[in-house]
Amino acid sequence: MKTELIKIDFAKPLSGQLSLPAKILAEGGLVAFPTETVYGLGGNALDASAAGKIYAAKGRPSDNPLIVHIARPGDAEKYADTNPLYEALAKAFMPGPLTVVLPKKEIIPFSVTGGLQTVGIRCPGDPVARELIRLAGVPVAAPSANVSGRPSPTAASHVADDLNGRIDCIIDGGEAEVGLESTIVKIDGDRLILLRPGAITPEMLRTVCENVVLDNGILGKLPEGVSPQAPGMKYRHYAPRAKVYLVRAENEEQADRKAIAFFRARLAENPQVGILCYDEHLPFLSGENVYSYGKKEDDLAHSHLLFDCLRRFDETEAPAIYAVIGKTEGIGLALYNRMLKASAYTVIYI
Ligand code: AMP
Ligand code: MG
Repeated sequence: MKTELIKIDFAKPLSGQLSLPAKILAEGGLVAFPTETVYGLGGNALDASAAGKIYAAKGRPSDNPLIVHIARPGDAEKYADTNPLYEALAKAFMPGPLTVVLPKKEIIPFSVTGGLQTVGIRCPGDPVARELIRLAGVPVAAPSANVSGRPSPTAASHVADDLNGRIDCIIDGGEAEVGLESTIVKIDGDRLILLRPGAITPEMLRTVCENVVLDNGILGKLPEGVSPQAPGMKYRHYAPRAKVYLVRAENEEQADRKAIAFFRARLAENPQVGILCYDEHLPFLSGENVYSYGKKEDDLAHSHLLFDCLRRFDETEAPAIYAVIGKTEGIGLALYNRMLKASAYTVIYI
């Protein structure tokens, strides 16, 4: 199939530019669109066959549920049983990078929820995404717009690399600001279970609900046979082709000096190895595949650039990738979670 590419001109009104993709969605087709987290691959969430097309285009296992995107936080009640805690979360963080898992209403097909009785609801912060959903007139089921197992796409070019010819349309709205997928929480009585960390951090969630617990799958490998509560977390995700090793200083003292020495030793063994370091390390390292993901203290830059860096490594012959990792507070928790998965939990302490 021919994939239509639409580049958004932000100087012009959005609605005219989005009328074609909105029509494609309403008629059961697939449209990749920008959000503030990563690019999504959207289909009509009320249409079981559109969901089937999403799974097929991505090569995604059909027990891995899709998040349902809405244009207004208040639309959630049409598709799920909401409650006062949902309302409080919506008031604080929506539109924005937060998905809330709620009991689903009948109108949402089981093919969208991977057979679950619950549905993940999100109202994206990106105005292009919201206007597209509003114009389509239907809720939009959308996982990340990558082929399963590849890093999530943070630019339209990433989507085209993975899905050109397999979907109807790609909307190019520039780089995704956050760069990591949404925070996912499940409401469980008066507590929140954090299923996937993201830009809405545990600290932020605690301003709305004191009782936030982290799902076991976030920082550790679950024992054989135990399923995480967010089904997607069980798949090997976000992984470049080369083996990734995380490099973590045991303490802050001399952390940069130790990281530089470690990277130099790996580059001396093989100048082709992939290095993901901080800007501060760059002057001391030379090699073909040395990339920085921002200044050491700039955790927003790290999140924004991580998946792009992982994809860039895939275009090289790097036999292995060594990636520095820092603090795990704030959005650092989400970054660490994604990097643990990319590395299959391989951490080298220095
Ligand atoms: P993606 O949009 O590709 O990041 O994937 C969405 C992820 O959200 C899935 O892989 C699940 O882990 C999670 N998810 C979506 N719906 C639910 C749900 N009803 N219950 C638990 N987790 C969910
Ligand atoms: Mg995904």
